[in-house]
Formats: sequence, structure tokens, C-alpha cells
Amino acid sequence: MVLADGVSKSFGSNEVLKSISLSVNQGEVLCIVGPSGSGKSTFLRCINHLERVDAGRLSVDGQLVGYRQHGDKLYELKPKEASKQRREIGMVFQRFNLFPHMTALENVMEAPMRVKGIPKSQAAARAQELLARVGLGTKGDHYPAHLSGGQQQRVAIARALAMDPKLMLFDEPTSALDPELVGEVLDVMKGLAASGMTMIVVTHEMGFAREVADELVFMDGGVVVESGDPREVLANPQHQRTQAFLSKVL
Ligand code: ATP
Ligand code: MG
Repeated sequence: MVLADGVSKSFGSNEVLKSISLSVNQGEVLCIVGPSGSGKSTFLRCINHLERVDAGRLSVDGQLVGYRQHGDKLYELKPKEASKQRREIGMVFQRFNLFPHMTALENVMEAPMRVKGIPKSQAAARAQELLARVGLGTKGDHYPAHLSGGQQQRVAIARALAMDPKLMLFDEPTSALDPELVGEVLDVMKGLAASGMTMIVVTHEMGFAREVADELVFMDGGVVVESGDPREVLANPQHQRTQAFLSKVL
């Protein structure tokens, strides 16, 4: 479903991703862990073409990200084509980024109406379903300011799902939350994984990774240092850098 082959990315002279190769199968969950600055967010941003890679290739569901191949030449997608492609990938960030002047329901309805032209009543019904799915069936008329951080993050997940993504990317979705609110968001993500969604999750929640991920990748300094079954990697890390990192977060 997701294939990265030798993905490299620099900002000026700072080489942030150094030939990252990995793959995620349909319906699987990949967790990425690693120290600050190791390139995790940049990698996610490359997957939905918010950043352009300098070398290597990324594909999602058999489609090259950001490019079209013609013969042996690559052509960059036009902005309209790129945003169409990006629509099929849901992204949830550390900060919830809900529209503050819209209710929870309106936040979830907005993109399907504006981008896909779904009629209002249909979008509202679907949004209500999605809010119920994330445990917020009774909160549709609340504004973000009147929801807890955990509730806001669940609205953000419902909003991403409203576009029927093939793939969901999560960038430290619980890092900004008070500890007692982390569990409710992780539970929603577990449910999503159990429903067969393909997911890439950057997280420091090792319990989640152990329980839910099919594969764990440890990144440091822009490379994949180690990857494998999360239980194995967490219990028996092979590399000194992985051991040092895990001893700090476990
Ligand atoms: P964290 O755990 O703190 O979120 P991260 O692993 O997500 O870290 P990135 O945000 O991908 O790390 O950043 C990797 C490196 O790339 C850092 O050195 C950062 O300063 C640099 N970087 C990221 N985005 C940009 C940008 N738009 N312009 C210049 N440098 C950038
Ligand atoms: Mg980051």
C-alpha cells in the first residue's frame, strides 16, 4: 500500500532523510519512533507530498506520490492533481487544527461539502455517524473551545475519515494531550486499525506500538536504524542507538 524506496530529503545542507526504504501492506499499522529531529514528521510530509523528495520514490496504493510517469520520465503533478492525490490520505497532527468558528459537526462536514461537493444533508448525516464512531455522537453542536483536548483530537480523526482516505497518517497525535486524555484517542486509533485502515503512526506511546502495530521502525539521524515486529524490537533492540532511545522512553 505504501512503498518508500531510497527516499532522501535535505533542507539546505541539512540532510534530513537519507535513503529511507520501507513498506506498509494494506490494512497494516506501521509505528515510527525516534528522537526529536530524526526526520519522522518530514517523512510523513513527504508521503502526502507536502514536501518534495530529492531522491527516491514514494508510492501509495500503486500511485507515485507527486509525480506521473511517462515512459522513463517523471512529471511533477500539477497542484490540482497533487491535491486530489493528497485527499486520499488522511492526516492527524499533534495540534488538532480544528476550525474554531465551526461546531464539531461542521468541522467534519466541511471538506466533503467544499472539496467533494457532497450535499449538506448527506454530509451532516455522515459526519454524525463519524462523530458517533469516535465516541462523540452527542457533541456535534459543541465548538472546539468547549471540548477537551482528547475530544478535539477525536473530532480531528473524524474529520480526516470524512474524506474516505485509503491511508491515515498520525504525527504524534497524543503528544499535546494531558495524560488522562491520551487513552481515549489511542482507543479510537485502535478501533480504526481493527477496522482494517492502513496507518502510519509517529508516536512515543510504546504500549500502543506493541499492541497495535504490525511493524515498528526506529529512525535516528534520517535513517531507519532498526525495524521489525514491535514486540521483538521493544524487548530486544539490536542496535545501541535503539537501546539508548528506548531506555529513555520506556
Ligand atoms: P520531533 O520528534 O521533534 O517532531 P522529527 O523526527 O519529526 O522531530 P522533523 O520535524 O522531521 O523531525 O525534522 C527533522 C530535521 O529537519 C530537523 O533538523 C528540522 O530542523 C529540519 N526541518 C524540518 N522541516 C524543515 C523545514 N521546513 N525547513 C528547514 N528545516 C526543516
Ligand atoms: Mg515531528
